[in-house]
Amino acid sequence: MSNKLDSHKINYHPKEIADMFEGKLQAPIYVEISPTGICNHKCLFCHYNYLGHEGKFKKGKMLELVRDLASLGVKSLVFAGNGEPTLHVDTIKAIELAKSLGLDVAMSTNGALLKEEHFEVLAKNLTWIRFSFNAGSDENYAFVHQAKHSDYHKVIENIKKLKLTKDRLNSDITIGTQFVLIPENKDFALEHGTLLKSLGVDYFSVKHFYNHSHNEFEVKEEITNEFIEKLSLQADELCDDSFKFIVRSTANLSSKREYSKCYGLEFIVFIDENGDVYSCFSHQYDKKTIMGNIFENSFKDIWNSKQKKESINYINDCIEKNSCQPNCRHHQINNYLWDLKHPSIEHINFI
Ligand code: SF4
Repeated sequence: MSNKLDSHKINYHPKEIADMFEGKLQAPIYVEISPTGICNHKCLFCHYNYLGHEGKFKKGKMLELVRDLASLGVKSLVFAGNGEPTLHVDTIKAIELAKSLGLDVAMSTNGALLKEEHFEVLAKNLTWIRFSFNAGSDENYAFVHQAKHSDYHKVIENIKKLKLTKDRLNSDITIGTQFVLIPENKDFALEHGTLLKSLGVDYFSVKHFYNHSHNEFEVKEEITNEFIEKLSLQADELCDDSFKFIVRSTANLSSKREYSKCYGLEFIVFIDENGDVYSCFSHQYDKKTIMGNIFENSFKDIWNSKQKKESINYINDCIEKNSCQPNCRHHQINNYLWDLKHPSIEHINFI
């Protein structure tokens, strides 16, 4: 089954699409929560370094939020964000609670802080987990993640433990790994994918680094198309029924957009560690994009607020889309919905 990492799945939600165009969408489909901005690592390429890695959810507040989101009909919840989600004491409890309330739950983590008692909870409650694992030796890891050498070995051990737990419980969790390709780690990509296959992960995804206006990291040496093509061929050879080595498409690395309005904004919401609620989280530095704050108001009140409408109007009317980061989280959905509203082909009634 395809995981559509380079595409979108909004077409599986026609009722919500119709509701959104009629202005009566009751809740986003997908919510990402950033339990904390703090991180035990400081990856060279991280888009969130400019935010300073500070702040965290007040104790207990995440659980209250999960209950609110479930009661509104949100379908999926991802614990990820600006920092390392497992650094917050409530994250594992929130995962269990969300699952028990019927949500599909996932987590993105560097995986270095997982403890024995976490593996069963994760295997039982997560639809997927994605380890951010961007280096191919302990030395390379310490440099790219700006972390301890020993964390490289800890993450490998933790992946092994989760895989063992998955097998023991006959769990459906998808164990994925993501590797942001930069000149500093590119020569390890193939070897690292091979190692992760041997650990039993379901996929290893190589994602291209793209620029963000506030990210100070600079790619000093271009990664050539020849390198990427060769890696893609080598990756294909490692794929089989139980493991996918995915070299992400380079087709979306341009900032150019065909659309001038982001119709996808209401489907994906991001709540940061300070309680601020965003649709477009590429523009967290621009306070006019904030819909409200869940430490001050309920999510439902924010969703129905004037401020939410104003933030969406501001993003649609005032932000020049061709200057946004390439392939933002909403991009593929925006493309799809723009084409629904402004068909690029003629004679659509001749179905
Ligand atoms: S295109 Fe720009 S404004 Fe629209 S969602 Fe993406 S980053 Fe945000």
